[in-house]
Amino acid sequence: MNRRIMVAGNWKMYKTIDQAVALAKAVAAGPARQGLDVLLCPNFVCLEAVVRAVAGSHVQVGGQNLHWQDEGAFTAEISGPMLRSVGASHVIIGHSERRQFFGETEKTVRLRLAAALRHGLKPIVCVGETQAERESGQTDDVLASQLAGGLAGLSAAEMVKVTLAYEPVWAIGTGLTASDEQAQQVHAFIRAWLAARFDNQVANSCGILYGGSVKPANAAGLLRQKDIDGALVGGASLDADSFLGIIAAV
Ligand code: PEP
Repeated sequence: MNRRIMVAGNWKMYKTIDQAVALAKAVAAGPARQGLDVLLCPNFVCLEAVVRAVAGSHVQVGGQNLHWQDEGAFTAEISGPMLRSVGASHVIIGHSERRQFFGETEKTVRLRLAAALRHGLKPIVCVGETQAERESGQTDDVLASQLAGGLAGLSAAEMVKVTLAYEPVWAIGTGLTASDEQAQQVHAFIRAWLAARFDNQVANSCGILYGGSVKPANAAGLLRQKDIDGALVGGASLDADSFLGIIAAV
C-alpha cells in the first residue's frame, strides 16, 4: 500500500501576519515532491493571508481547531464553514495542548471531527500518552481509549478521510523525541487497532503522522519507519530552513 506522506507545520500561537506570510512564501518556494503533502496550520488571524501567500503552489493550509456548530453564540470560536471560506483544506483536532489547557475531551474530539467531515475539511486527529502514562505501562490503553472515544461512530468510509497523528505528550516541545523504534511500535499498534475496529483496508490506507520534537536531524530515521506516514511539526516548523530540512528528509 502506497500511502501519501505529509509534513505538516503546526504554528500554534506564533507569528503575526507579516511573519506568517514571509514563512509561508519561503516554504512554498521549496521543492514539491510527488506523493508528498505539505501543510501549514497558522493561527486563525493569519489563515487568509497564508492561503493567499501559497496560492498556486503545492502547499496546503489548515486550521488548528474548529467548533462543532456551524455558527452561534460561542465567543472566540471558529467553525467549519468559516475555515472553508478562507480556503483551509485541513484542520487539526484534539491536539494535546487543547486537551491539557482547554478541556478537550474524547466527546469534543468526536464532535469536532464530525463537523470537519461534514464540511469537507480533512481532519488530523491527535492522540498520545503523557510521560507518567508511558512510565506506568499504560501507553496502549491510553491510545486505545483516545481512539475509541474520538473515533466513535465513524464509518469506514469516513475513517479513510481522517489522518491520525501520534504525538507523545512528553515529546512535544521538550526536545525529547520518541526513538524510531518507540514511534514505529506505537504506529503499528494504532494501525492494528484500526484493522480491528474497521478492517485491513482502512488500516492500510490511513495516514499516521508522528509528532514530538521532529527536526531535520531526526526526521529521516522516523520517516523511514514503515508505519510512519509523515510528521506533525511544531517548533521546527516556525523556521523555513528547519521545516524545509524536514521535508528534504522525506
Ligand atoms: C506539535 O505541537 O504538534 C508538536 C509536535 O510540537 P513540537 O514539534 O514542537 O514538539
